[in-house]
Amino acid sequence: MLQGLVIAHLGKGLAVESPEGEIVLCHTRRRLGDVAVGDRVRWAPCEGGQGRVEEILPRNTVLTRPGYAGKIRPVAANLDRVFVMIAPVPEPDWLLVDQYLAVCEHCGIPAQLIFNKLDLTSGEAEVMGPLEDYRRIGYTTHRVSARTGMGLAELKHILQGHCSMLAGQSGVGKSSLTNALLPEKNLATSTLSAKSGLGRHTTTTATLYHLPEGGDLIDSPGVAVFGLAEICGRELAAGYREFQPHIARCQFNDCRHANDKGCAVRAAVESGQVCPARYQRYLKLLDKLAARSGTG
Ligand code: GDP
Ligand code: ZN
Repeated sequence: MLQGLVIAHLGKGLAVESPEGEIVLCHTRRRLGDVAVGDRVRWAPCEGGQGRVEEILPRNTVLTRPGYAGKIRPVAANLDRVFVMIAPVPEPDWLLVDQYLAVCEHCGIPAQLIFNKLDLTSGEAEVMGPLEDYRRIGYTTHRVSARTGMGLAELKHILQGHCSMLAGQSGVGKSSLTNALLPEKNLATSTLSAKSGLGRHTTTTATLYHLPEGGDLIDSPGVAVFGLAEICGRELAAGYREFQPHIARCQFNDCRHANDKGCAVRAAVESGQVCPARYQRYLKLLDKLAARSGTG
């Protein structure tokens, strides 16, 4: 059996890249479950120059999203960096940012922030203030302009040696930044369609690209919004990393860190150790989870 890397999820199969850079169209065995872009697999050649994936090698991480009928689907495997993008326009949806960060914490994928469209701003307080809150709790933030190229050299350097994905609300510049990082993206896409033997217009949910300066970028246009699919209230609280040192000091083990008696997280908010805006958003997301599960 041969080793390979799943670089695209095509309607009719998977594009698997061999260590030598050959691309083979592979089918999977049903019992394997969902194979995701970024998966390292073992596959066997079969008739017609195609292959069949026989085994998914152990994953370091898997990012999931809610699918149809309450199913959880993998978006990408073995990601080791998610960049959550914001911009001066559209106005940042900080609740969504927190949601992404919590999901990344839950999946064990380190997240960083990218502030794009630097060319449009001279440092508006309404964006820079919240950004500073994230920096203070340990999130690295990068400032770039996909349009002018400001900050891109540093970002390319950060991307080397990692498998990354860009996330963020519509309009922040994910596709612009992807194109700036990957000038040969269209060429790579057509090579992929040609080599896999599928047409140009085959739908893909995600594609893994090798960046010219090193590192990989998983482009997943349709699923840029990954939800709180698998997260319960306890995991949401754990997804707020600055709550961590306080959670163990709550009076009750099952503290939800809302109105609970003896909550150390709330006390930390009141004493200024935890950012109140982040805490308020935690409460909102907690409500959202409760509404979803139909329980309190
Ligand atoms: P996506 O929805 O996140 O993929 O965002 P797009 O890449 O489609 O960008 C949305 C809009 O923002 C487009 O009109 C882009 O031209 C514009 N845009 C993207 N990056 C920048 C930037 O760095 N500066 C400016 N001024 N506009 C940008
Ligand atoms: Zn608590």
